[in-house]
Amino acid sequence: MAQNQRLRSLPSVDRVLNAPELSGLVGQYGAQACKLAAQGELARLRKALRDGDGDVEALVSGADFQGRLYTAVQRKLAAEFSASLKPVFNLSGTVVHTNLGRSALPAEAVEAMATAAGACNLEYDLEAGHRGDRDHHLEATLCELTGARAATVVNNNAAAVLLVLNTLATGREVVISRGELVEIGGSFRMPEIMQSANCILRETGTTNRTHLRDYENAINERTALLMKVHTSNYEVRGFTNSVSGQELSQLARENGLPFVHDLGSGTLVDLVRYGLPHEPTVNEALAEGVDLVTFSGDKLLGGPQAGIIVGGRELVDRVRRNPLKRALRVDKITIAALREVLNLYKDPQRLSSRLPMLADLTRSAAEILALGERLLKPVAEAFGPAACVALTECNSQIGSGALPLERLESTALQLTPIAEKGGKDAALQLLAGRLRELPRPVIGRIRDGGLLLDLRCLRDEEEFVAQLREVV
Ligand SMILES: *Cc1c(COP(=O)(O)O)cnc(C)c1O
Repeated sequence: MAQNQRLRSLPSVDRVLNAPELSGLVGQYGAQACKLAAQGELARLRKALRDGDGDVEALVSGADFQGRLYTAVQRKLAAEFSASLKPVFNLSGTVVHTNLGRSALPAEAVEAMATAAGACNLEYDLEAGHRGDRDHHLEATLCELTGARAATVVNNNAAAVLLVLNTLATGREVVISRGELVEIGGSFRMPEIMQSANCILRETGTTNRTHLRDYENAINERTALLMKVHTSNYEVRGFTNSVSGQELSQLARENGLPFVHDLGSGTLVDLVRYGLPHEPTVNEALAEGVDLVTFSGDKLLGGPQAGIIVGGRELVDRVRRNPLKRALRVDKITIAALREVLNLYKDPQRLSSRLPMLADLTRSAAEILALGERLLKPVAEAFGPAACVALTECNSQIGSGALPLERLESTALQLTPIAEKGGKDAALQLLAGRLRELPRPVIGRIRDGGLLLDLRCLRDEEEFVAQLREVV
């Protein structure tokens, strides 16, 4: 068949849409989406024929072409209308993984999100019968848990930092140590945030050592505030010096300047209580005399994406009045979830069993090992001749920049491909790719020529095993 003939043999969009085989599709997805899908598929075929694509030429000349075309349209629509955000098994070994949605939310939070989805009193005072404030749902709890006088919440911690800087330091200087000019993964860099907030960065000290006199020398008539940033995702070791929050608070007070601390992860409880390494708490920062603290809702707090600002009443009110606050505000779904998570903190004794993020971080090495021992046989059977499966010790990390040097003892399933067609790396990538294609994708990490599945965050054991049958 010549190219022209093949092109002419393609059916019209209407004929595809009216085919009895596709009769249910219009009812399911609507006429417009079906038409676009059919047009798209036909356009793709037309282009491939013009380009002389041999496979498509054979397809179009084949006896079952129409059937295949209908299936392609059907698949296109199914993919388009399927959920884009899929649940995955996070076996990466990083508990709070930004690419995997950070903290898993507790059931209470999920339920509250559904409740808030309809019309609700987001900004409505039910008692008075007039307009209310969305911060009202969270402020009292945040104050109770942190010891702050006032609190407000925005879209994420990057937004919190931006808003605070823009409110307190537009067109003026912000003094910050050169050791704390952090970059957080995915384009949050302190100097750039300063620029976006319309402030002038006034760096002081050196990368490894900053002294109180450096801050004193940096202060001038253009200074708007002193800032400290928690170096969450790295640590400067060796010949180092930094100035404590306490000393900086005092210096700020002597100069009539506000002092702001970006804590990053910002935990509300001392993690040492749960056998984890110490991470500065919001209460500690406030006790040092900081005027405003900013931190994330979805790092070590274990809640939804949010940025929390706590501190003195007057400064928080100024932050709230900034028109940018309107642009950065949180929605009702976030407020609903965050309130439930914060309420869990009122009972620290049960927190580690009720908050999924903390439950994963505190899961005992013995429990994870026992899980590995139960899984070894079914997983080895599922991979049969494709991969060797063994149990191995590994270290999980907390993630999201929190406590970057601390490691948590854990156990992993180690998968090593047997056939190494195209080389070891290619075989490993193929294996990792297959796991990502499962109905609930499994995300591991590659180490020492094997694919590690860290079992720390694996909770749905049966579902995990059941779907592995589809893997080989
Ligand atoms: C993570 C982090 C941020 C950004 O927080 P997001 O909630 O991800 O926007 C800002 N500052 C520090 C120190 C951080 O660790």
